[in-house]
Amino acid sequence: QAKKEGRNTYRYHTEALSVAANERLIMENRLRYALSAEELILHYQPLVDARTGYVVGVEALVRWQPPGKAMVPPGKFIPIAEETGLIVPLGEWVLRTACKQARAWIDAGLSPLVMAVNLSVRQFQSENLVGMVQRILEETQLPADYLELELTESMFMEHVEQSIETLNKLKTLGVHLAIDDFGTGYSSLIYLKRFPIDKLKIDQRFVRDLADDHNDREIAATIIAMARGLKLGVLAEGIESEEQLAFLRQQDCDYYQGYLFHRPVPAIELEAWLREHSVPNR
Ligand code: C2E
Ligand code: MG
Ligand code: MG
Ligand code: MG
Repeated sequence: QAKKEGRNTYRYHTEALSVAANERLIMENRLRYALSAEELILHYQPLVDARTGYVVGVEALVRWQPPGKAMVPPGKFIPIAEETGLIVPLGEWVLRTACKQARAWIDAGLSPLVMAVNLSVRQFQSENLVGMVQRILEETQLPADYLELELTESMFMEHVEQSIETLNKLKTLGVHLAIDDFGTGYSSLIYLKRFPIDKLKIDQRFVRDLADDHNDREIAATIIAMARGLKLGVLAEGIESEEQLAFLRQQDCDYYQGYLFHRPVPAIELEAWLREHSVPNR
């Protein structure tokens, strides 16, 4: 009986695996097509200065909109793009599109906004990352100072020296560097000591229960204090309520991001809000 069950279990697993592998292949092909057929779009979410309440930047977040179907969130296709290597052309498209948009907002007379763009592990490790960033900045005529790249701790796990070299080259271009989802990776405080980082983004998993989880409050407060001591900027992600905001304000967090301020939306839907919340011209 056990043997029979074992065999059935085995067969069940291989079938499940091949179904998953097959779905993945279909997904990969669809995604490849999506990239060429311009089915990808960027949404933008404001980053707000805590002291003034003005918008100081936006984060570009990619979405996949297959015609006549529901929007696919990045969590569903970025990992597949990452595994298949499609992330490299996809990431280049994201960077170019985001930089063009930032340039367009400058030309439209908006006050300066930093464009924050997420990088993936494979992109970070690709040999021509720095060259690609430089080329896109030139192509789009965006001053490097308007671009912030969001990195994750997992990127630095292997090849530490090489990572530092890449980051230094990026800093030399003049772009800003932020660590995204801070506190959820294999954090090693050595990064903060040796890496030319400008900002920490506190992961939303620590922000979600700030109103009533003692541990999260301690963690968030500690990250903010540490960032202050190290002279790094610090932003809290995923702020949805006034209670969370009150706590972060009390801890003197520098920047805010979350649905409480604005959801990620297409550029066209954000423009009026950006104008309203921009640093006034003097
Ligand atoms: P992330 O970079 O940490 O981006 C923040 C995520 O939190 C976004 O999810 C955003 O929509 C969501 N968010 C913002 N405010 C709130 C809030 O108040 N409450 C809640 N519950 N969520 C909030 P999204 O757009 O689904 O992106 C998920 C992740 O996918 C991103 O996390 C990032 O790691 C990745 N991603 C998105 N776009 C790109 C891209 O262009 N390239 C790469 N490599 N990764 C990307
Ligand atoms: Mg991000
Ligand atoms: Mg994050
Ligand atoms: Mg992230």
